[in-house]
Amino acid sequence: MRALRKIMALLLAVALLTGIPVMQGCQKPAETEDITKKTEQETAVESGVPDGSYEGVGQGLNGEIKVSVTVGSGRIAAVEVLSHSETQGITDAAFSRLPDQIVENQSVALDAVAGATYASNGILEAVKNALLEAGFTEEAIMQAVEKPESAGKNIELKADVVVIGSGGAGMSAAAAALEEGASVIVLEKMATYGGNTIVAGSGFNCADYERQSQYEMTTAQRAVIESYLEREPANEWMAVWQEEIREDLEEYDAEGASYVYDSPALHAIMTWIGGDCEADPELVDMLCRNAGDSYLWLTGLGAEWIDGIEAGNGALWQRSHTSTTKYGTSGGCFVEPQRTLFDQLGGQLYLEYRAQELVMENGRVTAVRGVTGAGDTFIVEAEKGVILATGGFAANVEMRQQYNTIWPDLGENVPTTNPSSSTGDGIAMALAVGADLVDMEYIQMVASGNPFITPIITNAVFINTEGERFVKEDGRRDEICSAVLSQPNQYFYYILDTHTTVDLIGGKTIHGFVLDDIIDGENIIKADTLEELARQINVDPETLTATIEEYNSYVDAGDGDPLGRATFGSRIDAGPYYANKAYANVHYCMGGVRINTQAQVLDVDGNVIPGLYAAGEVTGGIHGTNRLGGNSIADIVTFGRIAGKNAAIQ
Ligand code: ADP
Repeated sequence: MRALRKIMALLLAVALLTGIPVMQGCQKPAETEDITKKTEQETAVESGVPDGSYEGVGQGLNGEIKVSVTVGSGRIAAVEVLSHSETQGITDAAFSRLPDQIVENQSVALDAVAGATYASNGILEAVKNALLEAGFTEEAIMQAVEKPESAGKNIELKADVVVIGSGGAGMSAAAAALEEGASVIVLEKMATYGGNTIVAGSGFNCADYERQSQYEMTTAQRAVIESYLEREPANEWMAVWQEEIREDLEEYDAEGASYVYDSPALHAIMTWIGGDCEADPELVDMLCRNAGDSYLWLTGLGAEWIDGIEAGNGALWQRSHTSTTKYGTSGGCFVEPQRTLFDQLGGQLYLEYRAQELVMENGRVTAVRGVTGAGDTFIVEAEKGVILATGGFAANVEMRQQYNTIWPDLGENVPTTNPSSSTGDGIAMALAVGADLVDMEYIQMVASGNPFITPIITNAVFINTEGERFVKEDGRRDEICSAVLSQPNQYFYYILDTHTTVDLIGGKTIHGFVLDDIIDGENIIKADTLEELARQINVDPETLTATIEEYNSYVDAGDGDPLGRATFGSRIDAGPYYANKAYANVHYCMGGVRINTQAQVLDVDGNVIPGLYAAGEVTGGIHGTNRLGGNSIADIVTFGRIAGKNAAIQ
């Protein structure tokens, strides 16, 4: 490459002296005219690089980013992104801003856009490669860009309700506060809204007779319910849940019913015991009794779901509503519907406004201070209340290490599914005003791929590198991850067939990619037969086919399996087949700020901190040691709405 550049430099010098145009590397002939008609004099004035279009490639998070750079008068005249596979929404700001900034500054030495670091770096790398290929020197295109001097302004804003964070919890809270007639400001530190929620591939858990009654309940599933009823009630809440389920089941049996039974009480007991009885049962009850209404609210605002009802990864029951990619990503359905209402009702979203401090006056939280992306400071007064909706700290390695007592290691080599925004800022702000924290040591790992096809496990089988199943796929996330970490290579494959990839999810991944476009032979593998799939993942074909045959026999019998799985959908028998390589990733923080059922933040003595509410992953106490897959979305919408409403009606 260096040698090539030297030759090109030489040719350029000759060209400049003689006026002979030089065609280079991946240069395309310039399409139009004006540019090519520039005189050498103009060209020479700038960089000496001949006018034309040049292509370059850079690496994003999910794959290559290809750009075309137009050079005119020896300057960077335009940058166009030709193709990429970055996650929509969260990376949009990088694609909309950087091309113009590069042209404006005639440099690729720019900062990454907050929240879209990989995409930004991929774009900058691609443009740099195109420019180097064109003949620019590194020095010329890497010139330091002068950052606009901050005017050092102090921006002052005011609203009834101020929400910090624009993920699912924040946007639900904001929309709910607006519905109550409050004025609302949302502060978001990143350049795009949506947080971790918009890239989530989760389901929405709630009991739903309409959908669940379409499925037969297996005898193993019935046995699971009975096992909850047989337990000694650990407290009043559990006794109430058990009693409700017993009464329901009497009616169910009297009707001769055989569909998948569910109810808020079953959801609650599973949530509470699924978190080892560590959660606050009152919060669990609030969540599960309101999840159905939250689901209807979100659906009414525009969320769209695939038909039927599935069991999500770690959901423990077939009650996960799986969103479509209507808004680009699966997670779009958990943010965009509220955003639409937010816009309609006049909510104001401030991007690149990083909250740093909650202001207390006379024992009440009255305002938020912070800094903007441009370097100004701000203070936003909240007439009625401030809602913390800043998400978890899965991307903050220091905090992971500080609080983790459960996993052998959550250091920087352990991947996370979360974007870089999940740094636990809200925890620090809440602590500074005396808030209590709860369950901080419970940090969830989830077994998922990158890219991840789907969290649905109803028709999925997990196999290790020997081609064998090693854990019940419908089990708890912590148990699955422990099993993954004890596999020789600490990874495994989700095996899926067309029943899931096409029939259920319509050939798109959780991030909205067309599945067949991103088959890479390593993380996502596709084959017409199981034997061929086995060969591609270096597993003995006979072992894999025997594993799947055995699994199919359990599907047929509907009576559980030796690993203890109770949830079975279709047989795995419809090619093409897919394998999705998956690891244990840091995924979710069960711990956080302590709240009551009204989403008010409590101090270390259990008293309400006036004016302060919290919702979503920044809170603790709702999930105990282990959150059920699909409960997070139900949580952020439910407690987001509670927080928004209560703050607004203060
Ligand atoms: P949840 O699921 O609880 O809604 P998310 O992670 O989806 O959580 O959203 C949290 C949002 O809060 C993210 O968009 C994140 O960038 C934003 N955020 C985090 N810390 C701050 C902060 N200090 N100031 C403003 N926004 C913040």
